[in-house]
Amino acid sequence: MSSPYVPTYQISFRDISQEHLYLCESLNKLDATMATETKTGNIDELISDFSRFYILTILYEGPAHGYQILRRFKKRVKKEVSPSLVYPFLKQLETKGLVKHTVKPVGEKERKVFELTQEGRELCTGLFKRFADLVSIAIEPSLYVCAHCGCKVYEGGYREVIEGKETTFCCIHCAHSYKETKKLAKKATQK
Ligand SMILES: [Zn+2]
Repeated sequence: MSSPYVPTYQISFRDISQEHLYLCESLNKLDATMATETKTGNIDELISDFSRFYILTILYEGPAHGYQILRRFKKRVKKEVSPSLVYPFLKQLETKGLVKHTVKPVGEKERKVFELTQEGRELCTGLFKRFADLVSIAIEPSLYVCAHCGCKVYEGGYREVIEGKETTFCCIHCAHSYKETKKLAKKATQK
């Protein structure tokens, strides 16, 4: 007997990659001026694809040797990253003073353990912040805002037709408070 069909709703790597390329492009445009003025100026060129960006997030979590980077990448992205991308990228980062390495024994071998320098960490913090901003711009239009408390509703929410208009709330309690406030406001104007 065949195993039951299990649907998967995972976003494919291609989707993420395309999306990311788009975001990176916008990101480059957004602060082209700022980038040319800093020492790490053309870093945007270096991280113009998802793989490099992801390698930075791995390094940001802590020191790692090349093989660990490859392994973590595969585990999280569900796709292999080529050593011919990882190692030259690490070298470029090192040349720019964003990454440094120390040789440490790992098992029976000696391995280069890479870690971000202070400057590298600062660059990543800035980069992640910019990335997060772009992502929130991308998802913002699909969010509802609760008519009562103003909080953003990512999922679900509560809708009710009030005075002929469909109104969105985060929850039924907010809808209740909203109606109460309206009632009070009406009473006040009638006086
Ligand atoms: Zn609310």
